[in-house]
Amino acid sequence: MRHDHLITSKQLSRADIETVLDHAAAIDADPSIVAGRHADELLGLLFFEPSTRTKMSFEAAMKRLGGDVVDMGSVESSSVKKGESLADTVRVIEGYADALVLRHPKQGAAAMASEYVDVPLLNAGDGAGHHPTQTMLDLYTIRENAGLDDLTIGIMGDLKYGRTVHSLAYALSNFDVRQHFISPESLQLPREVVYDLHQRQDHAGIREHESVDAVLSSLDVLYVTRIQRERFPDENEYQQVAGEYQIDLETLDTARDDLTVMHPLPRVDEIAPEVDDTEYAAYFEQAHNGVPVRMALLDLLLTGETDE
Ligand code: ASP
Repeated sequence: MRHDHLITSKQLSRADIETVLDHAAAIDADPSIVAGRHADELLGLLFFEPSTRTKMSFEAAMKRLGGDVVDMGSVESSSVKKGESLADTVRVIEGYADALVLRHPKQGAAAMASEYVDVPLLNAGDGAGHHPTQTMLDLYTIRENAGLDDLTIGIMGDLKYGRTVHSLAYALSNFDVRQHFISPESLQLPREVVYDLHQRQDHAGIREHESVDAVLSSLDVLYVTRIQRERFPDENEYQQVAGEYQIDLETLDTARDDLTVMHPLPRVDEIAPEVDDTEYAAYFEQAHNGVPVRMALLDLLLTGETDE
């Protein structure tokens, strides 16, 4: 199977995912196996939305592979300000780079842009759509902490607009995982995602809840997300749900001792700082895993080793 571009986790099979995670684990154990492998290669960074972890870990990953980055910089300082289309921008920058990383506020932007370029394009977040490279580091962290089979996970917060949730849910449907989705009614998973998950996985694999209490004690992993304020059409709607889903030591009272708490970050107030120093907290480790996982992805895409 060949992937020229990585647009959504829907396109990934279990074998694809395991190839990336195994390669990331090998790099994590001994980064020298890929040191210098992509010397003289350049990664084009096109971020039309704010980013800290994704952008910096892609940059760190490319540099640790011996390559470098060319960065479009902020939208304010680019020709986008002059009205250049996304299709033109990616066609120009593919001439400067061996692969492209795109983050854009519009859902579907990465899929559209990928039609205009021949170099691999990685979706680093398209609006409320998908964020497949985040998913790969989420899966890596889950596999390290709890394993990916016979897993019970709770995914909590903004399931409607949270692109990391959409990508993670599709990817997990390749494994023997019970997924509990916990959110206010207004922020439930989009119905088309629920429909797809039912098609991809046994009905017993998916449940929706409004409170974490009923399922907490059964969870191996609790994946907490931020309410995506920037995606709400109306600030009043955001205010109605802001601060509703918070985890602190009291909430975790009935959790299993080996529960792993994750968060794609940034957090606002979803996880109290008192959780940070407990054995539950895996969210900083999760962010650090972004480098070996993105090194693995870039290495596989740039050498065409995803062709099998
Ligand atoms: N950093 C993640 C994203 O870009 C999660 C978030 O922003 O809440 O989707």
